[in-house]
Amino acid sequence: MDLFEYQARDLFAKHGVPVLAGEVIDTPEAAREVAERLGGRAVVKAQVKTGGRGKAGGVKLAADPDDAVVKAGQILGMDIKGHTVHKVMLAQTADIEKEYYVSFLLDRTNRTFLAMASVEGGMDIEEVAATKPEALARIPVDAIDGVTDEKAREIVAAARFPEEVAGQVADVLKTLWTVFITEDALLVEVNPLVTTADGRVIALDGKVSLDENAGFRQPDHEALEDKAAADPLEAAAKAKNLNYVKLDGEVGIIGNGAGLVMSTLDVVAYAGEQHGGVKPANFLDIGGGASAQVMANGLEIILGDPDVKSVFVNVFGGITACDEVANGIVQALELLKNKGEDVTKPLVVRLDGNNAELGRKILSDANHPLVQRVDTMDGAADKAAELAAAAR
Ligand code: GDP
Ligand code: MN
Repeated sequence: MDLFEYQARDLFAKHGVPVLAGEVIDTPEAAREVAERLGGRAVVKAQVKTGGRGKAGGVKLAADPDDAVVKAGQILGMDIKGHTVHKVMLAQTADIEKEYYVSFLLDRTNRTFLAMASVEGGMDIEEVAATKPEALARIPVDAIDGVTDEKAREIVAAARFPEEVAGQVADVLKTLWTVFITEDALLVEVNPLVTTADGRVIALDGKVSLDENAGFRQPDHEALEDKAAADPLEAAAKAKNLNYVKLDGEVGIIGNGAGLVMSTLDVVAYAGEQHGGVKPANFLDIGGGASAQVMANGLEIILGDPDVKSVFVNVFGGITACDEVANGIVQALELLKNKGEDVTKPLVVRLDGNNAELGRKILSDANHPLVQRVDTMDGAADKAAELAAAAR
């Protein structure tokens, strides 16, 4: 989960990374009072989850509270790389002497954590990395040892920070590492980390990505989710603990196991080419051991998607045998009916694997008017695509 700059800034402040005072607003008029509180002058910054705001005109200096209202008005509503600006942060201005770059991230390729640092920070760090890789120091950080005094000095030396800021930068690195570890982050990036005319080192911009897999031990992180931006179906699925991703096609997909569901998406997209180009409407993995209730939850989400014209339930019986899955489907349709939900979309079910024969018999015996059984994955995908195309 990526955070907004102001949320990253709050986490920095909580752990003691030096930042400047700031407040978030969503109307131009609110800028006046905030600018007054900040001392008159302020920097007005678009809060969107993408970089390059400065270049896009999403970061502007305001000379006084009236100017802050004007600048906030210019930035609110702006489109930055497809992100509409709904909020701006007003922050105290810094008298910048020099801009640096520092970050910690999970380096999956090398199975370690990685520190990156450069004295050529600011807006073009990607370009620095591409054209002058020697100017971006890359130092592995051991997960157990972390950023010790020695490691912080190693990073500072590798990036060739000037002697007079070395101590302060090393302190910032150690504190940032604390943010990275205690908040279960995958990325903590400061660009620019600046030195000011009066010799202070301050994090002027922050980018933080939190590991959602650690959500169970980070109760505070839920409040950081951008609920307004979440797809309503994805939000409903999340509330039911389902592994669901909305896509833009018409064939609803349910399967057990992420790998099977991924290949189901491919097979449906391929079959759809013969049926006017229909595509999968979603990814939904109900996992091994799915109960009737989980099947009902999944079906409810998918049938609630107005784009869905047909549903393909693709199950390979393993630990949960096909007869249990078949009973789950029958009970799920019953549950939805009892809830007063009018199931009108056709379901194509393919069952294979453990106890497939028994599962197929249960479906045949139930004889539900909307459920069709097709015993191969390709055949079922073709049928589901055909039904979706016909219902367009
Ligand atoms: P980004 O372009 O999305 O990475 O946004 P940043 O927050 O990094 O801001 C872009 C640039 O605006 C920075 O590199 C700074 O040069 C400048 N900037 C940001 N805040 C201030 C400030 O308080 N004072 C001054 N003078 N410049 C600032
Ligand atoms: Mn930046």
